[in-house]
Parts: sequence; C-alpha cells; structure tokens
Amino acid sequence: MTHLTAIIGAGHAGSETAIALRQQGYTGRIVLIGDEAHLPYQRPPLSKAFLLASDPQASEIRPQSAYAQAGIELRLDTRALRVDTANREVHLEGQPPLQFDQLVFATGCSPRPLQLRGLGQHRAANLHYLRHVQDATGLRSQWREGQRLVIVGGGYIGLEVAAAAVQRGLRVTVLESQERVLARVTATEVSHFYAHVHRAAGVDLRLDTQLDGVQLDDAGNVCELVTATGERIAADLMLVGIGAQPNVELAAASGLPIDNGILADEHTGQVMPGVYAVGDCCNRFSSRYQRHVRLESIPNASEHARNLALALTGKPTVPPAAPWFWSDQYDLKLQIAGLSQGYDQVVIRGSIALHSFVAFYLRGDTLIAADCINRMQEFAAIKKLVQASARGIATHLGDECVSLKELSTTVAA
Ligand SMILES: Cc1cc2nc3c(=O)[nH]c(=O)nc-3n(C[C@H](O)[C@H](O)[C@H](O)COP(=O)(O)OP(=O)(O)OC[C@H]3O[C@@H](n4cnc5c(N)ncnc54)[C@H](O)[C@@H]3O)c2cc1C
Repeated sequence: MTHLTAIIGAGHAGSETAIALRQQGYTGRIVLIGDEAHLPYQRPPLSKAFLLASDPQASEIRPQSAYAQAGIELRLDTRALRVDTANREVHLEGQPPLQFDQLVFATGCSPRPLQLRGLGQHRAANLHYLRHVQDATGLRSQWREGQRLVIVGGGYIGLEVAAAAVQRGLRVTVLESQERVLARVTATEVSHFYAHVHRAAGVDLRLDTQLDGVQLDDAGNVCELVTATGERIAADLMLVGIGAQPNVELAAASGLPIDNGILADEHTGQVMPGVYAVGDCCNRFSSRYQRHVRLESIPNASEHARNLALALTGKPTVPPAAPWFWSDQYDLKLQIAGLSQGYDQVVIRGSIALHSFVAFYLRGDTLIAADCINRMQEFAAIKKLVQASARGIATHLGDECVSLKELSTTVAA
C-alpha cells in the first residue's frame, strides 16, 4: 500500500505543508482536506485590499495546476468529522473514511464569539465576523456609503476594517474595552499613534468601553449597541473582531493534548507518533521564549510547514526564527519583529509625527521586539537584531545617525 499523509485544513499551513512535502521528495499520497469550497487562499487581504477593491476575488495561494502537478489530492468542501488515531482513520463528511499513515492537523482558528445580552443564539444578518472569504463578501455586500458600521474590538482586524470602511465612506465607530487600542501587543506610544490616525481619518474611537448588549429591530437585525454605562449607539452594520480561538474540537475528541491549541513539539510539530499540528491551531514549545507559544501569522504558518515537511522526510529541521507579523492601515505599513510581552523599556527611533518610526522593546539591555511603522528599508536589519537578541545597543537604536544595517552586521558577527 502507498504511504498516505492526510492533512486536515486547506488553509495557508495545510497548503504549504502539502507542497513542501513534495518539494522535499515525499513520494507517498498527499490528501489535503478542506471544508471551504475555495482553493487555499490568502486571508490577510480580507481585512484590507479585499474590502477596498472594486471587484474583489479571493487571492489563491497557488493555482489548481500546482496541486495537480505536485500530485496533491484536493478534497475541498469536505469536512473531517472524526479522527480515529488508533485505527489511523479520518472520517469525512459524505465520503468513505480515509486510512492514513501520517496525519497533520492544520485546522486554523475561528473568530472568538461575542456573548451578548439581547442576542442569545440568534445570528443577525448584519452582524459579521471575519475569517473566511464569504465573511468578507458578506460584509462588503452590505456596505453602503454613509452607513453606520460599529466594530467591536480595537485589535488588528478591527482597526484594519475600520481603515478600509472609513475610506469607503462609511461612518465608523470602534468600541474597545481596554484604555488603548492594540493594548496587548504594543507600547502606549504605538497605541496612541494609531488612535490618533484613526480619529483624524474620521473614526469614532471609544476606548474603555464595555459592550453590554444589543437591540434588534423587527427584522432581527442589530440596530443599536448598548454599552455598560447605558449609552446607545445606532448601527446599520456590526463587526466583531475580538480575537480568534484555535479549532481544536476534532483533535480534542481524538484525545490529543490541548491547551490553547494542539500541544506539539517545537521543531517537528509532532503531537504523538504519526500525528502532527501546524499553523494557527498549534501551540508549540518555544526555546526562545521558554514557554508554549501559539502564533497566528502567515510567516509562522509558512516556516512551520517547511519544517514539518523536513521532519517528515527525515531531514534536519531549521531552528524557528523570531516571529514576525504585519498590518496595513491607510498608508501605514506596520511590521513587527519578535514578541514584546515583558518589556521594561521602549526606545523610539524616527518621527511619530511624520508617520515613520520604530518602537524598540527592551527587557533589561536586551532587544526583544520592534514595531516598525513605514520603515520597510530597515526591517530586515531590525529582524536580524531581534533574532540575535542584541544587547547593549539601546542608545544606538534611537540614534538615526547609526545605521541599523551596520549595527545588525556587527551584532550578528
Ligand atoms: C482577516 C484576517 C486578516 C489577517 N491578516 C494577517 C496579516 O496581515 N498578517 C499575517 O501574518 N497574518 C494575518 N492573518 C492570520 C493568517 O491569515 C493566519 O495566521 C493563517 O491563515 C493561518 O493559516 P492556517 O492554515 O493555520 O489556518 P487557516 O488559514 O485558518 O486555515 C485552516 C483551514 O482549515 C479548515 N478546517 C478547520 N476545521 C476543519 C475540518 N474539520 N475539516 C476540514 N477543514 C477544516 C478551515 O475552514 C480553514 O480553511 C489574518 C487573518 C485574518 C482572518
């Protein structure tokens, strides 16, 4: 019998794993199972360019022919219902069970649901979440100039959608429960900067605002949001962007270890012999951070998939790089290197007023992360410095006369 690798989840991590396996010389069958009808596509544009384009299309990661050429069997529009790890079987909706030798969970995340008084289990047609292309299509189809869009959550997705919507002429309110936007992930300076930019663009940004409930109209649509202080905010449309949670139900029901994702080995993503997890659904131990870290980003999904393919073909894996991310809002390109949690000092380089700066995060004298706003030309050097956990360079970081490229060469040498 031919060796078979089944991959559950045809998103970024699943698609990259399938292709990388073939590139690494895996000769068995590869079956990529996805519950969406689309070929694997890029999610980042869904909160950015897709909302602004005149004729938006899902941006496929690669064409169908690439899967055919690589001999990857695509089972799209097919949900994996149950996994039997003892008998090495995955049960598929409407299809006979599939016998596997190796199984990869690449099931991604789902938006965290907002429990609201006044809503119960009702799914109002004008209340949106954003994860899949049909979510973005549904949101867009209801956008009309002048309409009132209320966004719950001032994180990356909420702010990206706010930027797109206000540019399309909607009247946008963002409700954030913390006292600043992006509070979990950025320094006060960066939060204040983004708050200022959004307000200047016309977004009604309300911080420290808890949502208590919603009011439905006769048609069952949300027409008002009610805050904890009793304030009522009229809405034509509502988007909830309060974070994501890993899709682990299938893995949990098969008895795999779960804690904020599927717990897996750092280098290979192995969960148990022959079973692996990759991408957003996977919580890997990180020797860099000395704890489990679950990342939700394209660079993580790609790097993890490449490493998994190396491991599955018996090759040495590559130590994971420091995490990095990006976010696009208006004409601002935010690039983030490293994780800033635990910082005790922030050094600013450049000009916040001119929308071109870097916030470096240090713990003691060690550089742990950086948020770079419109500093694309310096980002490669900054990633190197973060990757190297550069020490003793705080004064240089803030000095624009010091070339970060040269500094990164010295530190890495
Ligand atoms: C709106 C939006 C904007 C983003 N912007 C950025 C950005 O700017 N930069 C960045 O780095 N990252 C961004 N991300 C995050 C990035 O898209 C994810 O990190 C990446 O898609 C993770 O890939 P994945 O394959 O692990 O998960 P996913 O892409 O979510 O794919 C998982 C797939 O598995 C499917 N699935 C789940 N359960 C089953 C089952 N039982 N059977 C079959 N199929 C199943 C899901 O439907 C999905 O298709 C964004 C995400 C969203 C939603």
